[in-house]
Amino acid sequence: MEIQHTPFKPLVDRILKDGKCLEGGILKVDGFINQQIDPNLLKDMSIEIVKRFANYKINKILTIEASGIAPAIMLGFFLNAPVVFAKKKVPSTMENMLTTEVFSFTKQKSYSVCVSKDFLQKDDKILFVDDFLANGNAAKGIIDLVKIVGAELVGMAFLIEKGFQAGGNYLREQNIKVESLAIIDSLDNCEIKIRQ
Ligand code: 5GP
Repeated sequence: MEIQHTPFKPLVDRILKDGKCLEGGILKVDGFINQQIDPNLLKDMSIEIVKRFANYKINKILTIEASGIAPAIMLGFFLNAPVVFAKKKVPSTMENMLTTEVFSFTKQKSYSVCVSKDFLQKDDKILFVDDFLANGNAAKGIIDLVKIVGAELVGMAFLIEKGFQAGGNYLREQNIKVESLAIIDSLDNCEIKIRQ
C-alpha cells in the first residue's frame, strides 16, 4: 500500500544515532523514549503531531499504559485536552468499566485493557497516540473501546511505525487517519532502515 509519509527528521536522526536493534525485529529506543525520556524531543514530536492534526477537532487524547502516557500528556498539554490511558490491569476500584482483549507483540500473549466509561463519552473526538505501531493489536483494542462508547476516533498518531508489520496497512485500510513520525522499513540483519 502506497502511503503519504513525511518523516520527522529529529526523530529519524535520533533513532539512527541511539536506537538499537534486538533479535526478532524489535527496535530498542529506551535511551530517549521507552525508559529514559528526552523531554525536548518529546515536545518537538508532540508539536509535529499537533500540526499534522491541525485541521481536526480533538477534545481528548487516548493512549495505553505505559509507554504511550508520556507522549499523550505532552500532546494533551499542547491541545489543552484531557489525557486518558487505558489500563492493562483491571483495577478492582474501577466503575463503569469497558474492556477489550489485546495481543502483545513484545510479550507474545493476550491481556485485557480497560477504561472507565466515566472518561470516554459518546460525544468525544479522540486522538489516540502510542510509541510504536507494529501489528496494530493495541490500536485495534482502542478502536473497539471507542466503538463501544460510540465516540469518534479522529486519528491515530505513532512516534514509530514498523512499516514491515501489518498494523499500518490495516489501520489505513479502515480509513483511519494515521500519522507516524518515523517509519522503519526494515530491521533485517540488525540494520535500521528508515523510510525517507
Ligand atoms: P502492536 O499492538 O501494534 O502490535 O504493538 C504495539 C505495541 O508493542 C507498542 O505499544 C509497543 O509498546 C510494543 N512494540 C512493538 N514493537 C516494538 C518494538 O520494536 N520496540 C519497542 N520498544 N516496542 C514495541
